[in-house]
Amino acid sequence: CGIVGYIGYREAWPIVIKGLKRLEYRGYDSAGIAIIGDSGEKIYKKAGKVSVLEEFAENQDKSGHIAMGHTRWATHGVPSDRNSHPHTSNNGKLSIIHNGIIENYATLKEELIGRGHEFKSDTDTEVLIHLIEEIQKIEKIDLLEAVRLALNEVSGAYAIVIMDKDNPDRLIVARKGSPMVIGVGKGEYFIASDATPIIEYTKNVIYLNDNEIALITKDDLLVKQLDNVIQTPLVQELELKL
Ligand code: GLU
Repeated sequence: CGIVGYIGYREAWPIVIKGLKRLEYRGYDSAGIAIIGDSGEKIYKKAGKVSVLEEFAENQDKSGHIAMGHTRWATHGVPSDRNSHPHTSNNGKLSIIHNGIIENYATLKEELIGRGHEFKSDTDTEVLIHLIEEIQKIEKIDLLEAVRLALNEVSGAYAIVIMDKDNPDRLIVARKGSPMVIGVGKGEYFIASDATPIIEYTKNVIYLNDNEIALITKDDLLVKQLDNVIQTPLVQELELKL
């Protein structure tokens, strides 16, 4: 339902929490955040309001300059803590948040279970991150390429953000049929499913197009189409009122 992400030099947690609250008007049943700091990755997720998540994480380690947050509107799997996003790969190294529906998740899930994957939720989303992990393992390729190949295998609509514990300097985002906006700062990027969480930080945005995938570090952005053609992103100026 709602997506917020940050990579840069600021503390990411407050930016993502505030962004999720700005997206609350869309309705949702659960909220969650993954953040990577000096002591590794932390994932906090809860059924209920963003304020429930905030309370749950109150005395926990929330430091880090890269994070992604999600508000979920359940389509596959009841609203619950364990079905809330982010979801992780089998080895726990990759995490994902997702808006939309992976239509062919059931066949993919069966195949992945046959290859030894164990699922921790009932969501369609978790299947996608396990698929990416499996493709990366088999093909021995980098994460961007594995995400690209995986997305060529799925049908449905999605806006996704992916983080990798072992490479905490990058975010991967992609979209098809579900909006994704990238706010461009100086030494930082903001990500959101609509511009409202971004507007207070920057007016310069890139609207990711359908079938595009982006690799984002704090200083740089690479956009490709799912067929591997590199794109020159168009930076536009927001004209939204606060
Ligand atoms: N299909 C996913 C789920 O049920 C994502 C739903 C959403 O867009 O929030 O978890």
